[in-house]
Amino acid sequence: MKKINRRNFLKYSSALSLAGVGMSSSAKAQPENILSPDRMGVLVDTTQCVGCRNCEWACKTSHNIPADDIEKFHNRDIFKTFRRPGNDSYTVVNEFKNKKNELIPINVKYQCMHCDKPACVSACIVGAFTKKETGAIVWDGDKCIGCRYCMVACPFQIPTYNFEAAFKPNINKCDFCYEERTSKGLMPACVEICPVEALTYGSRTELIRVARQRIKRYPDRYKNHIYGEKEVGGTSWMYLTSPSADFQYLQLPKQLERTAPGVSESIQHGIFAYFIPPVALYAWLGGLMWLSKRRKDILKDVDLTDEIEGGK
Ligand code: SF4
Ligand code: SF4
Ligand code: SF4
Repeated sequence: MKKINRRNFLKYSSALSLAGVGMSSSAKAQPENILSPDRMGVLVDTTQCVGCRNCEWACKTSHNIPADDIEKFHNRDIFKTFRRPGNDSYTVVNEFKNKKNELIPINVKYQCMHCDKPACVSACIVGAFTKKETGAIVWDGDKCIGCRYCMVACPFQIPTYNFEAAFKPNINKCDFCYEERTSKGLMPACVEICPVEALTYGSRTELIRVARQRIKRYPDRYKNHIYGEKEVGGTSWMYLTSPSADFQYLQLPKQLERTAPGVSESIQHGIFAYFIPPVALYAWLGGLMWLSKRRKDILKDVDLTDEIEGGK
């Protein structure tokens, strides 16, 4: 077998680096982030939500995720534990104590917020996330390389990774029912099934107008704040709540000083500041390990030679 000396190693590693640069340049796609003035959204009115979890059931069934009978979703024991969306539930509803009226809890539905300046889109180095004209952020399994930067970048902890499918990257999150519904002008499954109109689907601009109107008309019922209008640069899903609750108490993160893409881009730019693509990085790390092992072997040889010579 051909021996690899240090010079050869450097030659191979720089060739690998160049291959990496080539690969990364072709694999790195420009993120697509269409910000249409007509993009759609959903207004979640937490003062209306009754915590029936019909939306969870509808989301599962419309995405072919196995689900119990809808009646089982009405069991409120589940609210004892706070849940986040996961691989088998792209939306979940939680319950919070209402500090003003303990008889009426506050229920909050969570899912991808379909951000206007999406951290997942800007963090993804291969352009696997796209913001569509409708407002939906969708994920493309054919492009994804499973790096999971999107999971780190998302300020709402939304994308989840299916570790059972380790060899086929599988990121799961709400897709705003893009394929089957919203791209065809239909409303999302969760909105359609909601029995109390806690979810309103419409153009984002119109939803902001509706939300402002509700706040103005019922100041005792609503806090004067539309969550998502400005947070992280604006989101397609927005929330109203009662004056006694604040959004952080409802586990919706505080307004960030920098928009999420600003943060994720700095993570990405830190890694790619000198455009060190993953293959080059691995080659370099591998090289360091090889050199360190080689050094140890040489020192061992020298020690042994010394011992032999000294023993003469
Ligand atoms: S909530 Fe997270 S996953 Fe959804 S669009 Fe925003 S950054 Fe992306
Ligand atoms: S919009 Fe569709 S995918 Fe998203 S939570 Fe609602 S039903 Fe689920
Ligand atoms: S279906 Fe409507 S009322 Fe029922 S939990 Fe979902 S958002 Fe709330």
